[in-house]
Amino acid sequence: MEGREVIGRAATDVSGHLSPYSFTLRKTGPEDVVLKVLYCGVDHTDLHQMRSEIMLINYPMVPGSWKWAYKNKFKLGDKVGVGRIISSCGACLLCNSNSEQYCSERVLTTGVVHKDGTPTHGDFASAMVVHHKFVVKIPEKLALEQAAPLLCAGVTAYSPLKEFNNSDKAIKAGIFGARRSWTFGDYFLVSSNAAEMEGAAASLDYILDTVPAVHALDPYVSLLNVGGKLILVRVVTKPLHFNTEDLVLSRGVNEPSRARILSNSTRTQKLFM
Ligand SMILES: [Zn+2]
Ligand SMILES: [Zn+2]
Repeated sequence: MEGREVIGRAATDVSGHLSPYSFTLRKTGPEDVVLKVLYCGVDHTDLHQMRSEIMLINYPMVPGSWKWAYKNKFKLGDKVGVGRIISSCGACLLCNSNSEQYCSERVLTTGVVHKDGTPTHGDFASAMVVHHKFVVKIPEKLALEQAAPLLCAGVTAYSPLKEFNNSDKAIKAGIFGARRSWTFGDYFLVSSNAAEMEGAAASLDYILDTVPAVHALDPYVSLLNVGGKLILVRVVTKPLHFNTEDLVLSRGVNEPSRARILSNSTRTQKLFM
């Protein structure tokens, strides 16, 4: 399929609108696979990218990063998925320690220029080319439309919780800004309800902050238990501020916040096993 024309929908400016767009599929390297896209999703990162809010975008740009496809190489008909990264250098310390999502040569699924000089286009198109390391197998019994959000939003929440609590010990984690599809439990706390917030003070081991817009952090920091961690997993286009006093004096946390992006491919595959 490489070298073939594929049809997609692309943003051509910062307006956020998509229009029909055809382009030539990137040539496959020896370790690439060609995917036929069957399903894809949309999330806030797509909107950020379409509007050129979190990185300088070369237009036209085909967004999308949750995809469901049939591999056209190796074994025709395999049900597979790809997240927000399609390649990395494969040789650096990060790539060799299951942290390839931080590789300085990682190639994002959409909106950047690939090593071969071609622009990367996401899954708002009929096909794409991906390095096999970033392709994960999807169990047959999983419904495609239900599984789709796990490739980006799902692994973004799953991966840090696995990383920081790699044991069977029960933890209490709060997902701030969770949508229905990535809720791990069924307890909801409404932040505008002062009594509920007070009742939940110092109760959480982790908070995953998934909100892609400017927001106050202080009310949520108070929910952390001593030693608890606030983990930022979404990009906010303006600086976030918080008062260090509460963290340092009340929570006893010297290393108060972390930031994580996505997941390594091994852990992403584990999510589906
Ligand atoms: Zn690397
Ligand atoms: Zn996403």
